[in-house]
Amino acid sequence: MTIIGSHVNMSGKEMFLGSVKEALMYEANALMVYTGAPQNTRRKAIEMMKVKEAHDLLNINNILLGNIVVHAPYIMNLANPAPEKQQFARDFLTQEVIRTSALGAKQIVLHPGAHVGSGEDEALKRIIAGLNEVIGNTANLDVKIALETMAGKGTEIGKTFAELATIIAGVTHNERVSVCFDTCHTHDYGYDVKNDFDQVLLNFDKIIGKNKISVVHVNDSKNPQGARKDRHANIGFGHIGFTALNYIVHHPNLLLIPKILETPYVKIDDKNIQAPYLEEIRNFKEKTFKKQGVLAHL
Ligand code: FE
Ligand code: FE
Ligand code: ZN
Repeated sequence: MTIIGSHVNMSGKEMFLGSVKEALMYEANALMVYTGAPQNTRRKAIEMMKVKEAHDLLNINNILLGNIVVHAPYIMNLANPAPEKQQFARDFLTQEVIRTSALGAKQIVLHPGAHVGSGEDEALKRIIAGLNEVIGNTANLDVKIALETMAGKGTEIGKTFAELATIIAGVTHNERVSVCFDTCHTHDYGYDVKNDFDQVLLNFDKIIGKNKISVVHVNDSKNPQGARKDRHANIGFGHIGFTALNYIVHHPNLLLIPKILETPYVKIDDKNIQAPYLEEIRNFKEKTFKKQGVLAHL
């Protein structure tokens, strides 16, 4: 069976238990959470996250812990040239890896970083040094850091497979490093995921090794190939399209890893927005694009 889910919330009193309940509403068997708001670094104590209750509910529904993905906040930047900010990112990522392990998840997705004017080569070195420190700090934990393929907006690092390969090669214990393949980001950078995903995968395999992909972010894109914008569209409503994304979701090389939707909520009326994930997941399971339910508002 396809391993598919979406980003879900982790907040309020229910925390991780609420995340699992939300995923079940979408008929998902995989899910991704931020351990708090993605745009800040305030976090609740692990003891308040309702991990035991969440695991019981996952068990009842036969959802494997390997299908749970954590995403690090996107504001943290291991490549930041300011030493104190760089150290903050390393310390925070260390805590995030510990939280990931406490949730029982096996991987945390990380945006490699942005050079913010300091140049790509120096940024790559700082990212490698940062990862080596974080992995050293958490040597006993069975958690991988999944470097996300980036769209290349601003000064983002990790937009080419070669940059990711450089990072991986520089990390001492790189068995702890994997890749999160984001369909919107790779398309936006310029890879032809729409018309020739197999060629893109072959290219990835030569440069990094396709077995390094540990999670796929399945998103359509609001912009044409190469636009370097990073604006996600609902599945079937963007420049990649349902056919290409459905091919990726069911690709034999990606069968055993979680596929995670990060598509935007849909505006129902002036006051309400709703998650599109139930309908998007159903469309992938049925391998047919239907403008049903929430998607009918698009
Ligand atoms: Fe991301
Ligand atoms: Fe993503
Ligand atoms: Zn994105």
